[in-house]
Amino acid sequence: MLGLMQNYPLLAHTILDHAALNHGDREMVTRAIEGPIRRINYHDLRLRALRVAKALHNEGISTGDRVATMAWNTDRHFETWYGVMGIGAICHTLNPRLFAEQLVYIINHAEDKILFIDLTFVPLAEALAAKLPSIKKYIILTDEAHMPATTLPNAVAYESWLAGVDADFAWHSFDENTAAGLCYTSGTTGNPKGVVYSHRSNVLHGLMANQPDVFGLTSKHVVLPIVPMFHANAWALTFSAPMAGASMVMPGAGMDGKSIYELLDSEKINVSAAVPTVWLGLLQHLEENNLQLPYLDTVAIGGAACPRMMMEALELKYGVEVIHAWGMTEMSPIGTTGKLKSAEESLPVAEKIDLKLKQGRTPYLVEMKIVDDDGNDLPRDGVTSGHLLVRGPAISSAYFKLGEIILDEDNWFDTGDIANINAGGYMQITDRDKDVIKSGGEWISSIEVENTAIGCEGVAEAAVIGIPHPKWTERPLLIVVRKPGSEVTAEEVLAYLEGKIAKWWIPEAVEIVDELPHTATGKIQKMELRKKFGGYEF
Ligand code: AMP
Repeated sequence: MLGLMQNYPLLAHTILDHAALNHGDREMVTRAIEGPIRRINYHDLRLRALRVAKALHNEGISTGDRVATMAWNTDRHFETWYGVMGIGAICHTLNPRLFAEQLVYIINHAEDKILFIDLTFVPLAEALAAKLPSIKKYIILTDEAHMPATTLPNAVAYESWLAGVDADFAWHSFDENTAAGLCYTSGTTGNPKGVVYSHRSNVLHGLMANQPDVFGLTSKHVVLPIVPMFHANAWALTFSAPMAGASMVMPGAGMDGKSIYELLDSEKINVSAAVPTVWLGLLQHLEENNLQLPYLDTVAIGGAACPRMMMEALELKYGVEVIHAWGMTEMSPIGTTGKLKSAEESLPVAEKIDLKLKQGRTPYLVEMKIVDDDGNDLPRDGVTSGHLLVRGPAISSAYFKLGEIILDEDNWFDTGDIANINAGGYMQITDRDKDVIKSGGEWISSIEVENTAIGCEGVAEAAVIGIPHPKWTERPLLIVVRKPGSEVTAEEVLAYLEGKIAKWWIPEAVEIVDELPHTATGKIQKMELRKKFGGYEF
């Protein structure tokens, strides 16, 4: 017998309807690409999103068509995103930091029909346009007064394009499993792969993100999503904030410490989210200018492991609660968050920091487990490491146009991360499976060695790779970039690590380099390092 409840489809644009109706006066504040601060509220954002939907409909865009954006976090990007989804088209967020060839591959693979683009990226698009036959129109996210002279074919200023339509339009209706978003992941090998979010997965993921032990937004919050909308839905904030009626502050192109501090202060922001690099910039700015963070309550840090010194500075010096988060594009992206449970609040400070440096616990709607190389379940003892598998309604089952299901027979997705899980459910990433270092039959956590090394005075960035070794199979080599002006030596770094990590984890050698190779999402390209240091001898 089936239940007798309404078959009410979970459609992502209804989130904006809810925000407009119940929190219509709550603001979105944008640092506009043209310079000034711009303010709009959810009521008006919805009307503009409806106009985007109507204008796209008039252009002949319909269900299943891909419409791309290459844009920072702004109000215009947000209303475009909802307008595209609201007619059943697919909002394809492009990461402008990708290499040109990757962008060309992605846009052609997705067969994007229209590209909405920020002023910042017009030169980039001009260089690529000849290789993008599917794009019929370039809509520059600005007004006529700021419209640049451009060689882009069929280019129009967003505000002029929008001026031709009113908001007298109804969202289209369709099945909740209809695709809503597309975001390509850039692995270190092979072509980027398209992750396709559905309306249902976006709504469920937004609800999940609003659980109190995740980001727990409410209508009292003012949230600054620094994490870009092109990096896996700005960690759900573009859904969870309007769902909760939280005000949003959009940083535009200003991601440096000074610009972020200005917004935190002037807009009295209490929640924010970004990768560690951004927080590093903010911490430097605070220290150099002797500033405090009186309004900021909570920050989410993820995308890469949060270094200890960052956690300690934010929590202990500036009084900001850090939520360490782990996830991936394929997971919408949130997988775990590290808010402490009540019994853990009374632990000594150092133990609390230790616990919070783990990547955290799963919210309801994410399941996870670790398995050995043969797929056997491993214990949750906080020590045993294994392949981290996940499943849930906002986790990918296949990549765009690749057909093949990427799950095992029990629907588990292999994240490619190596982790342990303790009895309380806290997961700790120790490595990517491609990067693990096996020494004397045991795994060395390169992440832990790197994050400890970053605590050494004068070290800006650190990466550990395994070098083949006749006796131990592999031994770790630490590669370090110095902070500007620092003269820190290999010996000093090694001496610093003594006593802070297991003795046999201490790298065999330290090499100092000018810079490390990064991917478009800011991750260190260890494959490049392994190539560069191939044949290295200790
Ligand atoms: P992406 O899909 O680009 O967001 O990359 C996802 C990958 O980033 C994960 O599989 C992890 O390897 C890594 N990652 C994300 N968050 C964390 C974190 N808090 N600590 C360590 N690694 C992380």
